Amino acid sequence: MNIFVPDIYEDSIYKVDYSRLYKNNIKVVLFDLDNTIIPANVKNASIDVKKIFDSIKKIGMKPIIFSNSPKGRIKKVADYLDVDFVYLACKPLSFKFKKLIKKYNLKNKEVAIIGDQLLTDIKGGNNVGIKTILVKPISDYDSYFTRFNRKKEKKMISKIDIKGCNNYEM
Ligand SMILES: [Mg+2]
Repeated sequence: MNIFVPDIYEDSIYKVDYSRLYKNNIKVVLFDLDNTIIPANVKNASIDVKKIFDSIKKIGMKPIIFSNSPKGRIKKVADYLDVDFVYLACKPLSFKFKKLIKKYNLKNKEVAIIGDQLLTDIKGGNNVGIKTILVKPISDYDSYFTRFNRKKEKKMISKIDIKGCNNYEM
């Protein structure tokens, strides 16, 4: 298996079939922050994000923000959305994924991650064997460090049959 290939590819967090994830035993959905739920140069989430998070909770799953960004930036968004969060997650490294899975008493198969980057979100999720969902970045603006990865990812994604990534079932 290619560690950079997501299980699922959707245009945005609004297109993900959360009910189908729930039916496939997903209990916790980890969300990347920058360019997945808000643009990297915006400080808080929109009402549309709030609505989608509320609908995920209603289905019976727990959304958690899982971001490499520092605490201050994430806490503001997490407070608004009323969700738990992990900051400085060090994706694609595994240790904070594992810590979270242990903390919430989950099995790997009960967790999904949604993010816009192959080199952090998808590689990190595949490393620990959770469901991985790639979405398109919601803005063209990237932080300084992300710019390098983004160039590589554009090349990588052109080599993946990305439209074929539709594996909601385990
Ligand atoms: Mg991101």
